[in-house]
Amino acid sequence: MDFSSFGEKFTRHAGITQLMDDLNQGLTNPDAIMLGGGNPAPIPAMLDQFQQQAQALLESGDLVRAMANYDGPQGKDRFIGALADLLRRELGWDITARNIALTNGSQNAFFYLFNLLAGEFPDGRKKKVLFPLAPEYIGYADSALSEDHFVAYKPTIEKLPEGQFKYHVDFEHLEVGDDIGVICVSRPTNPTGNVLTDEEIEHLDQIARAKGIPLLLDNAYGVPFPGIIFSDVKPFWNTNTILCMSLSKLGLPGTRCGIVIAQEPIIQAITNLSGIINLAPGSLGPAMAIPMIESGDIITLSEQVVKPFYRERANLAVKLLREAIPDPRFHIHKPEGALFLWLWFEDLPIHCAELYQRLKEKNLLIVPGHYFFPGIDDPDWRHSQECIRLNYAQNEDLVRRGIAILADEINALYA
Ligand code: PLP
Repeated sequence: MDFSSFGEKFTRHAGITQLMDDLNQGLTNPDAIMLGGGNPAPIPAMLDQFQQQAQALLESGDLVRAMANYDGPQGKDRFIGALADLLRRELGWDITARNIALTNGSQNAFFYLFNLLAGEFPDGRKKKVLFPLAPEYIGYADSALSEDHFVAYKPTIEKLPEGQFKYHVDFEHLEVGDDIGVICVSRPTNPTGNVLTDEEIEHLDQIARAKGIPLLLDNAYGVPFPGIIFSDVKPFWNTNTILCMSLSKLGLPGTRCGIVIAQEPIIQAITNLSGIINLAPGSLGPAMAIPMIESGDIITLSEQVVKPFYRERANLAVKLLREAIPDPRFHIHKPEGALFLWLWFEDLPIHCAELYQRLKEKNLLIVPGHYFFPGIDDPDWRHSQECIRLNYAQNEDLVRRGIAILADEINALYA
């Protein structure tokens, strides 16, 4: 079959496709230990909440009404209005319903935004998306219409006590040229669990403003929901920020509900894109979340249920890993949020892609780290081949068994 250039580009076996295939295999192969995917954990109290909410929607007729009607291309009005109220009330942000649009998952929003703000412009200019710090989220890597769409900078690495480390933006080397259309960071970061400090975000904001380009913050794991963030940093938004949020990591990934909070021209553009590409975003996620948003329960649940659950799981996984792999060349990125631990095996004698294959043969699925460096073109940079991402949020027995398999392999390699 002959495909167009668009087809050629978007039918490649991208890193994200491998990840989603593995996730599916993990769900269907009873022997697989799935510590690879980004599926949020089934937190019993959250599942109860969703069950009750779905039941209430069914009884009131709102569930069938949501399924039987298209929303507008900006997304469900009542959800958007309630969210604007919540963010004004809780965080003091000066926003209205005109600053919010919904998409089919935030992944959908990134595709729109990366191609809206970078790529080829009508006057012939070409612009790129800048990641000021890689490793960055694997799902960005293939979501551009043009080749050579991303540029990224290596981080500085701060080694911390107890075998931990933390990445920082290398402001000394960061250059934002006129060919940059938007600066983008995930905070907390998938895959590393890093949370850029308030100072780093303010510094990036200043750079973006000085260049007249937006700062895109991917808040899929952040505050005020789902609140999977363990360090004490301030939520950030101003008129130059595009903030992307999602219902996924709260526990509703199947509803595919993403949220963009930005200046009105950006929201209008997202709305028009949605109309052309999707007609309208799906209405089930917003219908499920409206009561939690109107009551503010979404924040209480995030703080009191979601965050402690993940913090406990992260602490346990760190402890198990440290016990199982005592080698000083093994480092863990300081877990500050998101669902993952980022493991760095310094001087690993094999490429992390080979490590992935070996572990997969033993039924352990993780994600090799080299996928997470979109925009960095340096095959000699060993660090990018020495890391893996591990989802720590699955049940304790699986995490224990997975870590035992990983430790066998790594300890043998280091020996
Ligand atoms: N951003 C980050 C950092 C993520 O980890 C993910 C999913 O794993 C997404 C965005 C996309 O999530 P969704 O499309 O489910 O909102």
